[in-house]
Amino acid sequence: MVIKQTIADEIKERIMAARHVLVVTHVNPDGDAFGSMTAVGGVLKQMEVDFTLAVDKGMDARFSYLPLADRVRDGSNPREEYDLLITVDGSHYDRLGYSYADVRDMPPVINIDHHGTNPNFGTVNLVLPQLPSACEVLYELFVQMGVEINAEIATSVLTGMVTDTLGFRTPNVKPRTLEIASALMAAGADLPFITMHALNLQPFASLDLWRMMLGNMQFEDDFIWVAASYDERTRLGNEGSGSGGLSSLLGNVKEAKMAATLSEVEPGIVRVSLRCRPPFDVSEVAVALGGGGHPQASGCTIHDTVEGAQQLLAETAKAAIRRQTAALA
Ligand code: 5GP
Ligand code: MN
Repeated sequence: MVIKQTIADEIKERIMAARHVLVVTHVNPDGDAFGSMTAVGGVLKQMEVDFTLAVDKGMDARFSYLPLADRVRDGSNPREEYDLLITVDGSHYDRLGYSYADVRDMPPVINIDHHGTNPNFGTVNLVLPQLPSACEVLYELFVQMGVEINAEIATSVLTGMVTDTLGFRTPNVKPRTLEIASALMAAGADLPFITMHALNLQPFASLDLWRMMLGNMQFEDDFIWVAASYDERTRLGNEGSGSGGLSSLLGNVKEAKMAATLSEVEPGIVRVSLRCRPPFDVSEVAVALGGGGHPQASGCTIHDTVEGAQQLLAETAKAAIRRQTAALA
């Protein structure tokens, strides 16, 4: 059993005793974040406990097929309304945005996650870094809570699993991951549909942005990266679109050991997305710059111009590559 029965029991008891539960996830939510949030929503619905699902900027159209997508809202959360908080896929309380800020010192908090850099900020912490997605943590929890996995919950859980494993292709996929995926399909989740919507489909605007970023690709000392300034991004009308897919592409460049995309999302605020393949570990780079994540997929924010951020990141990443290469020799 990957989760202690005592933890599953405690989480179940806290939920059953709650009047109104607030579920939040990380800013810039991905499929694991939305999948986790709506999966927990599905379970709370089944348990007949009132709940609110909230994340900064609300639902992403890519995931609007998810059950309870219309229940995901944006906005502040007055603490008087809630007596239990559940955070899912939230690697750090600083990553939970204003949806969490208003209630952050309101106990109790159940922190369910799979990031090795999670500081266990909850009252109850269920953090399993060996699992590839927060949704896989949730599946194991639901089984031990005795939840009946219906088609809606299965669709949410499989969405997070597919997104964070890039369609079961990442090095942390285990036989158990595929066993769970199989059980979710049997419960009514449509794997090809989920893969198409969560992973494959890209808006033309994303490729337009990637083309521009790849045009300025840089490769030095085993580190490969691309960057877009705020002006370049706004010129393409692409302010909101993510570059996670582009980071993954760069992370698979055979000759490189670490890869990154830098996006100046607001003037002077540069979001960095880092990728690598085992045995390298980019979380060391992210943590050194105030961020976090997983060994092979991490991120951070640098407050600087895109030029300054590139210089700082390249220096930090190249030093980490040298250190890790030497340690492996
Ligand atoms: P992405 O590159 O897809 O935005 O993020 C890769 C992974 O790193 C995700 O699991 C994400 O949650 C985590 N991550 C990204 N940025 C940050 C950050 O600033 N702080 C922390 N703690 N984790 C991050
Ligand atoms: Mn995740």
